[in-house]
Amino acid sequence: MAWKTLDDMDLNGKIVLTRVDINVPMKDGRVTDASRIERIKPTIDEIIAKGGVPVMLAHYGRPKGEYVAELSLSHVLPAVTETLGRDVTFIEKPSREALDALPAGSVVLIENTRFSNMETDNDPRMAQFLASLGDIFCNDAFSAAHRAHASTTGVAHLLPSCAGRLMQQELSALETALSKPERPVVAVVGGAKVSTKLDLLSNLVRKVDHLVIGGGMANTFLAAQGVNVGKSLCEHDLADTARDILKKADEAGCEIILPVDVTIAWEFAANTKHETVDVTACPDDAMIFDAGPQSVERINAVIAASKTLIMNGPLGVFELEPFGTGTFVMLAEIAKQTDAGALISVAGGGDTVAAVNAAGVADSFTYISTAGGAFLEWMEGKELPGVTALG
Ligand code: AMP
Repeated sequence: MAWKTLDDMDLNGKIVLTRVDINVPMKDGRVTDASRIERIKPTIDEIIAKGGVPVMLAHYGRPKGEYVAELSLSHVLPAVTETLGRDVTFIEKPSREALDALPAGSVVLIENTRFSNMETDNDPRMAQFLASLGDIFCNDAFSAAHRAHASTTGVAHLLPSCAGRLMQQELSALETALSKPERPVVAVVGGAKVSTKLDLLSNLVRKVDHLVIGGGMANTFLAAQGVNVGKSLCEHDLADTARDILKKADEAGCEIILPVDVTIAWEFAANTKHETVDVTACPDDAMIFDAGPQSVERINAVIAASKTLIMNGPLGVFELEPFGTGTFVMLAEIAKQTDAGALISVAGGGDTVAAVNAAGVADSFTYISTAGGAFLEWMEGKELPGVTALG
């Protein structure tokens, strides 16, 4: 590993600025899902156990550099206190003196870092100020690592820095899946559009042995090969791009797997009239909503023969019955192979996490990243400034 961890730091008596992601969903002033707070608990507990004082830095929402009362982290404080099981001191305007005066065993939460534009501008003055508050910087917010902000990158260059346990766990899982994977590696990329995942596809064809393309984006590839996709979601203007990706895959020895049969329907609705047809038989007035059983059988055979799998995006409109069938049957195979110890499986991205949860297989996956943008940028092969800064 190129980055330091908590194991490499002497935390005793130190103020440890700890970048966390507690951007939790809230309704009517109450946090509705505290899982993000639960995930930072090991890091906070360990810093305290080793004699350090964790001072949490976090953003909340997008206040665009201004004070927005509803986006004050004071609203999240009760959930942080409850989930961490500790008294947490909330400080709106921090100073080194105030932090030095705190007794051992204290935990601090600082007000929303994004209340100043200096955060998102990665202004050196803000980085300097943050660095003056602490002795060590610990980044436990992988989900914010794709942004070069003062509290993720700027401060990391000014203090001895390390990854927190959650960041460490995420980085190891991602390394195992794509940087140094056990081969063969299969990637499953689905979802709505090719246009949002161009960089992702271009990077993956160079890295994986098999690439399953599903969902609406498969239609663009099928159409580019002359297949009639009727009224399906399809980016016809990206036909050249799709052919270019197929060519790159061919040159790199990456097998592309597209649907051979599809489930079609005539309206975008649950439990509507539908049929499964050969991929070449989509009527002009129909839409493709899912991969058919033969396609999934083929995908599952590839999964069964692979050692590593990385997934982003569903094979169909999984939110509408019965168009989740392809995705769910595939997810069951991934779960089975992972449970048997034959597969390392990593999935990430908002809709993917929703599909994995809907299939009830979240516990079987080796790792599920909830990092969204950072996970995608990492899959695209981009450098994550928040991670680089820890090196
Ligand atoms: P993404 O956010 O790009 O991963 O896209 C996920 C969305 O793609 C889900 O909401 C799916 O319903 C949608 N999707 C998957 N397959 C299709 C399809 N064949 N036609 C239209 N939308 C689809």
